[in-house]
Amino acid sequence: MAGFLDPVRGFGLTFTTMFKKVTTEQYPEEVTPTAPRYHGRHVLNRHPDGLEKCIGCELCAWACPADAIYVEGADNTEDARYSPGERYAAVYQINYLRCIFCGLCIEACPTRSLTMTNEYELADDSRTDLIFTKTQLLAPLLPGMEQPPHPMRLGETDQDYYLGVANSTSPVGGDPAAEGRLAGAVAGADADDAPGSGSRRVS
Ligand code: SF4
Ligand code: SF4
Repeated sequence: MAGFLDPVRGFGLTFTTMFKKVTTEQYPEEVTPTAPRYHGRHVLNRHPDGLEKCIGCELCAWACPADAIYVEGADNTEDARYSPGERYAAVYQINYLRCIFCGLCIEACPTRSLTMTNEYELADDSRTDLIFTKTQLLAPLLPGMEQPPHPMRLGETDQDYYLGVANSTSPVGGDPAAEGRLAGAVAGADADDAPGSGSRRVS
């Protein structure tokens, strides 16, 4: 008897499903926002004076299980400084044909240079175009930032720099409004620096 009722039970499931709310998404006409911590395209962040947070240490590349990151570090000099550290990433690439968006690279990054955005539209018909270069990955320059290379602008000492204390040589030095903006940017960056925040950040 139980075997006889099985098909009826099966059709019952089909019948009730017909009245359930349809969840079809009209992508790409209607783009549904992702979850706030969705792991999407990476970004290489900057300090508030425009210097790059990346110090070319390659820890992200070593942490990557898919071997998707390639970094070549180089020394900063006083004539050509790209980051506040001793070194910077002369070459930085992420191969999005390999990346599985696991986020291990951003957890490994000691400077929170590398974070992930919510951007997921990464399809292309060219394999070469899916290897993103440093130029593509670097965050854009915001107001008050200066295109590297240039000296550290946010203080006379390393401690001042990381606290965001603008000195007299700063492009925003002497402008209280701009200095306030920098301090706010640093505070915001610190708040975002919570491990695993995975937030969209460009500072
Ligand atoms: S998200 Fe994962 S797979 Fe992609 S580059 Fe980072 S560590 Fe590698
Ligand atoms: S992104 Fe972070 S972990 Fe990767 S090389 Fe730069 S500083 Fe090092």
